[in-house]
Amino acid sequence: MLLFHEVDPKSAGSPAVITPEELAKLLDSLQPAGFRVVAPADFLAYLEGKKDLPPGAVVLSFDDGYEGVYKYAFPVLRKRNMAAFVFPIAKWYSNHPRPERARPHLTAKETRELIEKGWIFGGHTYDGHRWTESGSWIARPLPGESLEEYRARVWADIQLMKLELEKLGIEVTEFAPPYGDSTPELEALLREAGIRRFWIQKDRLNLPGEVYVARIEVFPGENLVARLGAIFSLERSTKPSEGKVRTTKR
Ligand SMILES: [Zn+2]
Repeated sequence: MLLFHEVDPKSAGSPAVITPEELAKLLDSLQPAGFRVVAPADFLAYLEGKKDLPPGAVVLSFDDGYEGVYKYAFPVLRKRNMAAFVFPIAKWYSNHPRPERARPHLTAKETRELIEKGWIFGGHTYDGHRWTESGSWIARPLPGESLEEYRARVWADIQLMKLELEKLGIEVTEFAPPYGDSTPELEALLREAGIRRFWIQKDRLNLPGEVYVARIEVFPGENLVARLGAIFSLERSTKPSEGKVRTTKR
C-alpha cells in the first residue's frame, strides 16, 4: 500500500507533493519490476479475507483530499486503468464558509465521479487535522484537558466527518489518522463510530485481517522499485510460515 499526498505540476521539490509526470513515471516503473497495482475494492476484499491478490500487488492511496487528486492524479491513473483510496479532510465538503486559507480540495462532484470510477474514500477527520503542543489534535488530549473533555471534542469531530462523507454516499469504515499518529483512546471512539481499520504509515506489507493497514509513504524522485523490492523480500524472509506474502490459493 503506497501513500501519496498532493499532486501538482508546480510544486516540485516539496516532499509531500509529487508532479503528475513523476507519478506517471513511478507507476510505469512498477509493472516491469513485477509489481501490479490492484483495485481498491479488491484490496478491501483481501483485507476482509474474501479475495486473494496476485504476488507483488500494490495499492495506491492519497491523503488530505486535495484538488490535485482529481485534476492531476485521476487522468494519470485512468489512462492506466488504475484507481486509488482517498482520505479527505471532510470539512472541505461543508457548504458552510471556512475562514482558513488552504490549497483547493476535492469538490463533492469530483468525489462522486471518482467513486463511480472505483475509487474508495475513507475518513481523515472533519476539522481535526492539526498539530498541537500535545501532538496530533485528534489523537491526544490538549494541555489541561480531561479525558472526558477530549472524548467529547473528538466524538463531535468524528460525527461531523461521518455526516459530510455520508452525504456523498460514503460509508466510513476506513480512517487514516493525521500524521499517522493514533492512540487507543482515538481508536476506541472511531470503533464506536463504525470504523473498522486504521490506515497508518509503515514500511511493511498487509495481510488478511489487518486492523492497522500499513502504508509506505512515497517521496518524489526516490527509487521506489528498489525500496518496494527490499520490503517485499524482507517480509518473505521473515515470515517463512506464510510462504508467499501475497498468498494465492490454488
Ligand atoms: Zn493528512
